[in-house]
Amino acid sequence: TQYVYRFGGGVSDGGSGDKTLLGGKGANLAEMASIGLPVPPGFTIATTMCTRYYEDGQTFPDSLRDEVATGIAHIEGITGKRFGDEADPLLVSVRSGARVSMPGMMDTVLNLGLNDATVEGLAKVSDDPRFAWDSYRRFIQMYSDVVLELDHGRFEEALEIAKEDRGYYLDTDLTADDWRALVGQYKEIVVELWGKPFPQDVHDQLWGAIGAVFGSWQADRAKVYRRLNDIPGDWGTAVNVQAMVFGNMGDTSATGVAFTRDPSKGDNAYYGEFLINAQGEDVVAGIRTPQYLTRAAREAASAKPLSMEEAMPEAYAELAAVFDRLERHYRDMQDIEFTVQQGKLWMLQTRSGKRTAKAALKIAVDMAEEGLITREEAIARVDPQALDQLLHPTLDPNATRDVLTKGLPASPGAASGIAVFDSDTAERRSNAGDAVILIRTETSPEDIHGMHAARGILTARGGMTSHAAVVARGMGRPCVSGAGSISIDAKAGVMKVAGREIREGDIVTIDGATGEVMAGAVATVQPELAGDFGTLMEWADGVRRLKVRANAETPLDCRTARDFGAEGIGLCRTEHMFFEQSRITSVRQMILAEDEAGRRAALDKLLPEQRSDFVEIFEVMVGLPCTIRLLDPPLHEFLPHEEAEFAEVAEAAGIGVDQLKRRAGELHEFNPMLGHRGCRLGVTYPEIYEMQARAIFEAAVIVAEKSGEAPIPEVMIPLVATRRELELMKAVVDKAAQDVFADKGRTIEYLVGTMIELPRAALKAGEIAEAGEFFSFGTNDLTQTTLGVSRDDASRFLGAYVEQGIYARDPFVSLDVEGVGELVELAAERGRKTRPDIKLGICGEHGGDPASIAFCEKVGLDYVSASPYRVPIARLAAAQVAL
Ligand code: ADP
Ligand code: MG
Ligand code: MG
Repeated sequence: TQYVYRFGGGVSDGGSGDKTLLGGKGANLAEMASIGLPVPPGFTIATTMCTRYYEDGQTFPDSLRDEVATGIAHIEGITGKRFGDEADPLLVSVRSGARVSMPGMMDTVLNLGLNDATVEGLAKVSDDPRFAWDSYRRFIQMYSDVVLELDHGRFEEALEIAKEDRGYYLDTDLTADDWRALVGQYKEIVVELWGKPFPQDVHDQLWGAIGAVFGSWQADRAKVYRRLNDIPGDWGTAVNVQAMVFGNMGDTSATGVAFTRDPSKGDNAYYGEFLINAQGEDVVAGIRTPQYLTRAAREAASAKPLSMEEAMPEAYAELAAVFDRLERHYRDMQDIEFTVQQGKLWMLQTRSGKRTAKAALKIAVDMAEEGLITREEAIARVDPQALDQLLHPTLDPNATRDVLTKGLPASPGAASGIAVFDSDTAERRSNAGDAVILIRTETSPEDIHGMHAARGILTARGGMTSHAAVVARGMGRPCVSGAGSISIDAKAGVMKVAGREIREGDIVTIDGATGEVMAGAVATVQPELAGDFGTLMEWADGVRRLKVRANAETPLDCRTARDFGAEGIGLCRTEHMFFEQSRITSVRQMILAEDEAGRRAALDKLLPEQRSDFVEIFEVMVGLPCTIRLLDPPLHEFLPHEEAEFAEVAEAAGIGVDQLKRRAGELHEFNPMLGHRGCRLGVTYPEIYEMQARAIFEAAVIVAEKSGEAPIPEVMIPLVATRRELELMKAVVDKAAQDVFADKGRTIEYLVGTMIELPRAALKAGEIAEAGEFFSFGTNDLTQTTLGVSRDDASRFLGAYVEQGIYARDPFVSLDVEGVGELVELAAERGRKTRPDIKLGICGEHGGDPASIAFCEKVGLDYVSASPYRVPIARLAAAQVAL
């Protein structure tokens, strides 16, 4: 088997289709080289080697030595330099690169091939000793950190002291002799910490670095990242060895990172940062504040340091041409790394750029309108889940803000929460239920768990492409980075800003769209649903087959749902209406009544209230179907708890408190989830369902008369297991309908159907379909009853279940397609057999989950129903599965 694949100098053993084998970075380096872009030559050791390395007890096969030697010879042939040559040494970078990008997770070593002898040669051929010694100190520091795993703080400390001693401010102030002296100190630190001198043999250096890259695949922070992002551990990483190009060769050299479009807002404008006389890591590490790429961006920020467009017009023009070339080639927004060595541009990386949901939308719509991609591709490009970011409120522009400072708008969205200064605390406080804003000087991969736990992230240092910014955008967390005027004392749990102190636990607000940092909480407003969002939704609606409804029971939720494009109500839970303050006493009186007459007396009081609920809902949903579920929960959920409550109910019912308490005791159930609930209430107390049905039909008539258009009630009987239950309940509903219609002299079209939420109902769906006109799969309960798992108690063990691969994902979030799904499929099939035009839908959490929606499409359901905020997600997901 071949493990080494070359690129550069007219050779490309691989291409962008080889990400599995070569990792994303390697595959795209090969691809860029093959389309003639300037890529320093190199080779990629395949991901299959990583897997084999671990299988073989972290050793390399002998054959790899020969292959690597061939790879080095390839680079030597093109560059005309030799690895380890004391006169004119070839230097290389050793870079990791997994199949998908794992920002900052894996380690890179630059300037490899320098030692005490080759550094002199480099100084001579470059005629620039300062550059040579700067590169050597960088190499020792990085190699010691990444490969030898020595404390990098010691090296930084030595550099800081050297700068202070000489009165310097920037790294670029150091001279050749300063760097040479520092290299001497660095080597002493290595001996002190490692017990051995810094490796001088360039081949030892190379194999050390290759081993370290493979080794970092199993580092804790890489494992955490994989777990959070569902990346399998057996994918492995590739290693890229590539000729160095130098951005630190003086003022005609530079390094930078860029996006072909704005990854935050999506505007079609080049976007990025660069640093003159620097090497790659300097930009991301936030050592110096980077400069803007374009003049327009610099002017917009009224920044002084010249943009690349102004400082290096020729290299910039070449770069802009490469951007356009890359976008046309990949047909997507690209995230790139480049270096300019003495005026010559080199491409070091390209990948499809991470972007915010807002940018994803805009870029997809723009590219379709530019003709770069099709509308179908545009639909497929936007992650439905990510829309979530756009649908939530942003800061009210009119609310007063106590602005403390302003940083960079690194990731949009607004968040308020308590200030927390380290990631462990962030995780702990978040688990305890607090909304947390994580505030750090800068973030590193060790902060991933804290960033995940936080509502928002604020950093004092780092640019728009810093670790914090990149990771926050990926996670959809609002982020303000580089808020330079704050100073943080994490140990003391306090930050100072604008002469004020914010302590751990104080509430702060960040606005990732403007970069503002505020004290206290700030009011929010609803998002804008027109523009690109509206356009993409329209395209999506044009291709999807599944209808999308909402689970909603208040007029406000119904309004939101309709604004978000819901095509009806899939689940209106009537019990929520019973809890309202004005009604609960009547509800309790009804429940605790000793007989039918007592119940009816209470129900008579509830009827007008319930009717007005439905009037409000029908008014919003006029012309659309509304599935209304009759009372479902066990009655004891409504029982009084406090003495005063008992007294109130007793008075309303005209009975004694003791009698009431005895009756309440009788209602106690051992396992209420499987107890006296659902249609069992209707079977035992038909007058409850009769009242609800009456309220529904009276409301429907009122609204039909008022608005001229009738609502379409679909009355749903919960927890049915047998045909007979549904027959009995349907008779109650039909009777109420006939009575109301006769009374009012007007008929309304309606359906009566059932929820399929018990395995028996799914199995006997053929019979049940004879008695009802629609099924709505209540997959929350169907999951509970099929798996025998209580959703409310599952958190204790479900984590372990998912971790050990028993269930791939939380079955209450994403439908257990194999098990519960089989019941759904079977019920749909059997139901259709006896009633070919039966209406089929799904309600419950799964209705808004893209993977579950794909399943619903496959089974051919008519609609999915999701919570109002998830309606757009469901619309897009339904379109994607129809493509
Ligand atoms: P990461 O995945 O963390 O971005 P990279 O392998 O891309 O790691 O490299 C880190 C930095 O070093 C980047 O800025 C990159 O552009 C720079 N770099 C990598 N290889 C070279 C090289 N051969 N010459 C110059 N700079 C390089
Ligand atoms: Mg890195
Ligand atoms: Mg990179």
